[in-house]
Amino acid sequence: MTSEHFDAVIVGAGFGGIGAAIQLKRMGIHDFVLLDREDDLGGTWYVNHYPGLAVDVPTTTYSYYFEPNPNWSRLFSTGAEIKQYADDVADKYDVRRHIRFNTTVEGARWDEEAKVWRVAIAGGDTMAARYLFTATGFLSQPKLPDIPGIGDFQGRIVHTADWDDDYDATGERVAIIGTGATAVQLIPELAAKAADLTVYQRTPIWVAPKIDLHFSERAKRLFARFPLTQRIIRAVTDNIYEAMITIGVVNYRVPLFRRLNISAMDLCKMNQFFWIRDRELRRRLTPDYDIGCKRPTFSNRYLRTFTKPHVHLQSDGIERVEADGIVNADGTRTAIDTLVLATGFDLWEANFPAIEVIGRDGRNLGKWWRETRFQAYQGVSMPYFPNYLSLASPYAFLGLNFFNTMEYQMRLMERLFNEVRRRNATTFEVTEAANDRYLERMTEMLAGSLWTIGNCASARSYYFNPSGEPSLLRPMSTREAIREASEFPLTDYQIA
Ligand code: NAP
Repeated sequence: MTSEHFDAVIVGAGFGGIGAAIQLKRMGIHDFVLLDREDDLGGTWYVNHYPGLAVDVPTTTYSYYFEPNPNWSRLFSTGAEIKQYADDVADKYDVRRHIRFNTTVEGARWDEEAKVWRVAIAGGDTMAARYLFTATGFLSQPKLPDIPGIGDFQGRIVHTADWDDDYDATGERVAIIGTGATAVQLIPELAAKAADLTVYQRTPIWVAPKIDLHFSERAKRLFARFPLTQRIIRAVTDNIYEAMITIGVVNYRVPLFRRLNISAMDLCKMNQFFWIRDRELRRRLTPDYDIGCKRPTFSNRYLRTFTKPHVHLQSDGIERVEADGIVNADGTRTAIDTLVLATGFDLWEANFPAIEVIGRDGRNLGKWWRETRFQAYQGVSMPYFPNYLSLASPYAFLGLNFFNTMEYQMRLMERLFNEVRRRNATTFEVTEAANDRYLERMTEMLAGSLWTIGNCASARSYYFNPSGEPSLLRPMSTREAIREASEFPLTDYQIA
């Protein structure tokens, strides 16, 4: 067993952890380590590699603000290209040598006397660090459905986050449970190979048309030579996505904006009508909650897949799984070879927080969130947790694009750490008053949002915590969040 000391420990080597590492280097902090339980970097873009994986945010927008990538092959790039981008950025900023793979962090405890975080690693090693960052992502703990008999299934069973690249569905009878963003991408790929595919849908999803573009070699050269050209496209895609959130969701109380939200649902219905002639099938695929209550999807392939004769939509539910098939709630039975679980991730139970974090006076973060309310000042800080930034927290995630979240978080780090250094201080900790004010403001802002006054009851969305509060997404524009992160009152933190 060893115990090492660092200026900072970052948990997670996905885009969040890599961004935090780059920011630390920019601030002159080089004595840090990134710990990741996987054997490669990239987080969700390393773990997920199911067929059809692609980003559902335009890649012009889906990149660090300081590191545009001229090499994207298309507007909605594949998962493999995004993983490559993670590798390229980590290499360019010399982050890789700070990463320790196959290292699972079990927990971290603040040592008030030594003013350090004591980090416990699986296997018994420990580390001490002045600063702790958790960049553990929002969707990193796969959720396995608790369906009667599922343990008795004798065929192949696979969660989408644990995909076997050697698996070939050709000629097989396949069932897939789930119709979220992952399933929308995977179902057309499975249908192209399987002899028979049954899709188990509990809650339908809104599917908008996907307006994708191929970037020619000439366009890539233009982006590389004149980065401004790519920045202009980014400004357009940023603003479209931003408008979707601020108009359609955050300011839903404004009657005109509500109308626009309805128009977005009309567009999805037209998309359905375009691909599917069967009225009853369209009805079964149509959600009864407002668009934006859960993450909508973009696809030109998903809906039409259900018109193929060997693809069946099963929306009555599952009674139980047996050794070689599924007994459906309508009494029928589906014999299968492979069961694919596109059942998503356990965000609220397993991710908030992803490791046990014990702060000052023994405050346990997970317990405190559950005993009070899920809360985090600026989406990163909690009182009683000195020298800690939790990058995957309540109110951390901005709208639809993770890189916007990363941008405000990096700017917040810069402002906060510059002040700590200016004062030659040892610790920072958000004050209880600032945290309370922030939570109150989030609650007030959410009151006029789609998530509070829209029709979200049947959405079963991970945007809502187990108490039904929409405390995941920050109800503000990227511009506002970046301004706040760059200008927040330094008195909101006790810096000593
Ligand atoms: P998800 O959105 O949480 O969807 C999980 C699906 O599984 C839902 O349809 C859910 O039904 C169903 N399900 C879960 N447990 C079930 C059970 N016991 N019985 C029946 N059905 C069950 O998960 P996801 O599709 O993996 O997507 C998660 C998020 O990842 C997305 O929202 C998106 O943010 C992100 N994502 C992004 C991309 C990208 O391109 N950037 C691609 C894929 C995913 P209910 O809705 O009824 O619970």
